[in-house]
Amino acid sequence: MKPIPFSPPRMDQKIIDEVIDTLKSGWITTGPKVKKFEEKLTEYGGHMATLCVSSGSAGLELMLRWFGVQEGDEVIVPAYTYAATANVVVHCGATVVFVDVKDDFNIDVDAVEKAITDKTKVIIPVDLAGFPCDYLELNELVQNPKIKSKFSSRTENQKMLGRILILSDAAHSVGAVYNEKKTGSLTDITVYSFHAVKNLTTAEGGAVCLNLPEPFDNEEIYKYLRVKSLHGQSKDAFTKTQAGAWRYDVVEPGYKFNMTDIAAAMGLVELERYDEDMLVRRKHIFDTYAAAFSKYSWAQLPEYETKEKISSYHVFLLRINGIDEGQRDVIIQRISENGVAVNVHFIPLPLMTYYKGMGYNIKQYPETFCNYSRVISLPVYYDLTDEMVERVIRTVVEAVEVNS
Ligand SMILES: *Cc1c(COP(=O)(O)O)cnc(C)c1O
Repeated sequence: MKPIPFSPPRMDQKIIDEVIDTLKSGWITTGPKVKKFEEKLTEYGGHMATLCVSSGSAGLELMLRWFGVQEGDEVIVPAYTYAATANVVVHCGATVVFVDVKDDFNIDVDAVEKAITDKTKVIIPVDLAGFPCDYLELNELVQNPKIKSKFSSRTENQKMLGRILILSDAAHSVGAVYNEKKTGSLTDITVYSFHAVKNLTTAEGGAVCLNLPEPFDNEEIYKYLRVKSLHGQSKDAFTKTQAGAWRYDVVEPGYKFNMTDIAAAMGLVELERYDEDMLVRRKHIFDTYAAAFSKYSWAQLPEYETKEKISSYHVFLLRINGIDEGQRDVIIQRISENGVAVNVHFIPLPLMTYYKGMGYNIKQYPETFCNYSRVISLPVYYDLTDEMVERVIRTVVEAVEVNS
């Protein structure tokens, strides 16, 4: 039997045609398709403006830099996330303050509150596996007068906001819903990732969704960020190629974070069929896993639909009750030997060499470790057929029950 891969991208003729069309159009880097993709994303998320960038990581870093995060500042990040969420803080010279997560894999708002100091500038919640964080509580927390009075601003943007910024890492959660609003419009700023394994992919890519409160002008910030994300050049390459428009200026030493039109071409196809097709398929796979595993007392199912929240069904985080990390690894080994690719989202950052070396200790994040040590991420993707889903379920059940 053919092995089942973990998360191949959806690639069909429609995407191939759009990419070829772009390749032949005479313009392959940032241009009209990126602009169109940005407009469609703004419409989709219901936020104020969107800047497409080269990756989710680039988007997160760009916005930390925009806010002026620097040495001496602290940024609160869940211990349970991918390295990008914390690495960008390190790039800015600021201190990562990890906090524990809850049983739903998302940042614990009580732990966030305890971690806030007069140095805290940003909180980066992560919608793990596509399930939205407690945004009502998080937004209330940063507005709380007692918390607000601790905030000290060092830059113009910090002064204008007058409180901690919420920069949401929605790398997994494009299209997820919280109280009838989509990610993008739930916090000040939201960053999507369109990396090859994500729900909506452009091979590599990301987007910054701007939703800052007044007196910020999100459209103006978008224009400024376009310049900042392209070496501080006053004109982008597309504009410069128009006859007579060759002269430009460099207004600051910006970054090289722009998205290509080739990537945007893929994104446009994917976005158009995302809700009616991609999310429908993913939900079906989630529902099938949930129905099958709910029959076993050893299985703990992830939350993915509640009264307030609807997941974007990124990966299915199955936890096995009563096992330790070593037993989990053995189960994964058995599953792999039977031709099914599973994964672990994620190895907590305090367990990674760099962060461990910086003095972070996993013992301070017990819920993070408890989730991690029992979790197996099951494949969820568009081309995973019902037969393949059944095979994944059979293989997992056999691997868990072999000794019992
Ligand atoms: C993938 C991912 C990112 C980074 O996205 P890239 O586009 O690969 O830079 C950030 N945070 C989380 C949680 C991710 O899974």
